[in-house]
Amino acid sequence: MLNKNRKTRVVRVGKIPLGGGNPVVIQSMAKIKTADHLSVIRQVNALENAGCQIVRLAVKDKADLEGFKKIKQKVRLPLVADIHFDYKLAVGAVDCGADKIRLNPGNIYRKEEVREVISALKSAKIPLRIGLNSGSVKGSGSNRSTMPERLVKSALDYIRMMESFKFHDIVVSLKASNVRETVAAYRRFAAFSDYPLHLGVTATGFPYAGAIKSSIALGVLLLEGLGDTIRVSLTDSPLKEVYTAKVILESLGLSRFGPEIISCPTCGRCEVNLVKLVNDFENRVASLKLRPLKVALMGCVVNGPGEAKEADIGVAFGKEYGLLFKHGKAVRKVRFSDCANSLLKEMENKHG
Ligand code: SF4
Repeated sequence: MLNKNRKTRVVRVGKIPLGGGNPVVIQSMAKIKTADHLSVIRQVNALENAGCQIVRLAVKDKADLEGFKKIKQKVRLPLVADIHFDYKLAVGAVDCGADKIRLNPGNIYRKEEVREVISALKSAKIPLRIGLNSGSVKGSGSNRSTMPERLVKSALDYIRMMESFKFHDIVVSLKASNVRETVAAYRRFAAFSDYPLHLGVTATGFPYAGAIKSSIALGVLLLEGLGDTIRVSLTDSPLKEVYTAKVILESLGLSRFGPEIISCPTCGRCEVNLVKLVNDFENRVASLKLRPLKVALMGCVVNGPGEAKEADIGVAFGKEYGLLFKHGKAVRKVRFSDCANSLLKEMENKHG
């Protein structure tokens, strides 16, 4: 589904277009040292299977550059080299086949150094992400209320330098660790510029809190038509970052990756272990390529039949059995213990 609201330039990362109304792209970051190329290759491939479209790798030293080169030869997904402090690593990563470079204006800012990076990017025809983080923006730690303005000013100053080199292949991120600051920074930047936006909240804390913070910030911005690629930052497996990103895009109606499972929260009326069923079912569904059906798992006959009828397939449970609905019609009773198998059979049945 296209993201039609904000008109931006289009930037290509490998074969993937960012911006210009193209669908919002999911990205994540490998969490293993890039020099350990075999482990990173496994993680990148797992991310691809999970639905990730672009992967970023940290490049900290020459060993990482060597790793980056080997990884690039073995994976299909476009790779972004994440560079801090040492501009020569950015130039080296371009030579190693990077599809995009991320620089942090907080630690690579000398004009001559940046000019060298841009010259390499132009020769390779690959884009740059200007990746601002609240932790490394000028005046960090001072008055928090001006953080959005400072993030935006840093981005615009850096963009001016890029434009003085006649370079426009740019994506911008303005990540704060706080939802309000992140939203304010992106909104403010979008009023000044038409470069594509990479959305994210940084340093989000416990994974559950991180998923919530990211969902709020990214949800608000995407609903306003801002954002061309997203990364959910979690102190957890990158696969969970991708899973969360998919749920965000699905919840906003911006993408559909597979079946939508809805279930009631359960209460004292529920006479089956619905929580366990939903968790087990979710794990089984996640590993299969299934049609984007809506499936309802409901704990009792109070709200259950209504929701189950509105879904493509649904079950409303009684004590040991549930009533299975298909496209609004009650079809048959299913035993609770056999429910997951019955639902999967129905979901795999293309004629059902
Ligand atoms: Fe409770 Fe039934 Fe509603 Fe589920 S559907 S929350 S079990 S009343």
